[in-house]
Amino acid sequence: MYQKRTSRKQLLARADELLLPQRSEVKSRDSKLYNFEFYLNRAYAFNRDRGKCKVCGDFIMDKIHFHHINPNLSRNLVNRVSNLASVHSECHEKVHDGHDYSSLPKIIWKKILRYREKLNLPS
Ligand SMILES: [Zn+2]
Ligand SMILES: [Zn+2]
Repeated sequence: MYQKRTSRKQLLARADELLLPQRSEVKSRDSKLYNFEFYLNRAYAFNRDRGKCKVCGDFIMDKIHFHHINPNLSRNLVNRVSNLASVHSECHEKVHDGHDYSSLPKIIWKKILRYREKLNLPS
């Protein structure tokens, strides 16, 4: 039990470390998606995902991004932990760039497609 709590703490500490340098990067983006709640909740999302990328399943050591599963949700829902997915910046790009990645392992390609479908969900 104690150990569980400790590793949880370490993961969160690592999250803070990973998340800090992202700030300047998102400055120019949509303020609805990158508000205070986003910065607060992404650490929880990272912890929930156990430090792994929701697209490829590998651990994220750096260049972490958080994908908004349904970016069309209203301001008060869009940054809920349930709408954030920890992803590598590279994997995040693949979700959004619309390119064909069917040469990747099927399980990864399917996840990319599933996230793309959800991008078009109504608000
Ligand atoms: Zn990944
Ligand atoms: Zn995204």
